Amino acid sequence: MDIPKELRESGLKATFPRLRVLQLFQDGKNKHLSADDVYRLLREEDIDLGLATVYRVLMQFATAGILIRRQFDSVASVFELNEGGHHDHLVCTNCGKMEEFLDSSIEERQEEVARTRGFTLMEHSLSLYGTCAACIDIVAARQKKIRRG
Ligand SMILES: [Zn+2]
Ligand SMILES: [Zn+2]
Repeated sequence: MDIPKELRESGLKATFPRLRVLQLFQDGKNKHLSADDVYRLLREEDIDLGLATVYRVLMQFATAGILIRRQFDSVASVFELNEGGHHDHLVCTNCGKMEEFLDSSIEERQEEVARTRGFTLMEHSLSLYGTCAACIDIVAARQKKIRRG
């Protein structure tokens, strides 16, 4: 993605903080970032952008179609680069980790479910909630404790 060009075309000035925010989405190991995450990452680089400003910038990008805003249950809304293709998400309800997946048989079944009910599908978002591999022991230990009371 040519960031300065994308910004120009969406009528947003390519200010340094804006460029840096988009670079975080491009370079980061985490594709899905909340306003809090972005705020924290900028602070680590001594870029002093207030949380409200970070949120406003992210929403500007979302409106311009450069970022997609996602709302999952029980986690703050996150943003990711709009790379054009479709994908669904797995969300860890313990740590918030997100993974993307695309399963052609699920995609086809969804189309079919809609079609047999007379719906023409325009879009869908599928989010699967659970516990990620790194959290499974922590969550199991916590549940054991709750059961013991
Ligand atoms: Zn987790
Ligand atoms: Zn995603």
